[in-house]
Amino acid sequence: MVSRVVLLGVLFGVLIPVDMVPVKNSTDVHEGKLRLKRKYSGELFEEDELMDRDEMTAMDQILEVNSRLRAPRGLSFREGDIAYSYVRSAINCPGNACLWPKSIDGFVYVPYLLSPVYDDMDRITIETGMQEISSGTCIKFIPRTHEASFLDIQPRYGCWSFLGQTGGSQTLSLQTPGCMWSGIAAHEFMHALGFVHEQSRSDRDHYVTIVWKNILPEQIHNFRKQATNNLNSPYDYSSVMHYGRYAFSEDGGPTIIPKPDPYIPIGQRDGPSPLDLHKINVLYSCGVN
Ligand SMILES: [Zn+2]
Repeated sequence: MVSRVVLLGVLFGVLIPVDMVPVKNSTDVHEGKLRLKRKYSGELFEEDELMDRDEMTAMDQILEVNSRLRAPRGLSFREGDIAYSYVRSAINCPGNACLWPKSIDGFVYVPYLLSPVYDDMDRITIETGMQEISSGTCIKFIPRTHEASFLDIQPRYGCWSFLGQTGGSQTLSLQTPGCMWSGIAAHEFMHALGFVHEQSRSDRDHYVTIVWKNILPEQIHNFRKQATNNLNSPYDYSSVMHYGRYAFSEDGGPTIIPKPDPYIPIGQRDGPSPLDLHKINVLYSCGVN
């Protein structure tokens, strides 16, 4: 049997490929509303609809958009939005090889191509997501000129990214309009920088209770812990990388409950939290040459 255990030296030790995300209901109507909301600040909505959607985390919204996601040939997804290649069967990342390289000037340059299909508003949204990361770290997203490894940002179906730098061209999908929130873009960029979801941390059981009986049986794999190095950083309920309270719920009951205080808000979609930025700085040794 081929071992699919992968060591990503710094942050995410063991990665276990999982089955594809099954199909759920259509999200077209919601996507349309999200688009309107982004452009018109919600003025067109009923109040209760607005409140409901304002409580969504980046991951809630990603899972909604990805609910009909079918993996392109040769790819699969785990935890709802992290792509990996069947062909390679594993993400091979000995040591820090999946991290983007640091330049001699202390910055980590991440070249990207942005699909010409995006309109001006899309571009602003995506570039805002980049800015939210780069303004607090040594990561710099730069339009690709000649670099061999780069993010190819396209409006494919769904919001998803590979984990870390894969080498060469790597697709990062931000569907329009469904994924067009800067916090969602930042979430996917953090995957591309090498981060898994916050509640996948090896120490998560100290901070949250996973309510296994409320999880759709075929989605239980999305709650596996990863053997992460947690970078000596506190558990972050407000990480943009945290699942929402009802992620992959079977019957609407919570699947993740914070502890000891079950009412602590978890997840958000505004953008990287201060601790998210801190973790990027630690992982990439920003400020340390
Ligand atoms: Zn994600």
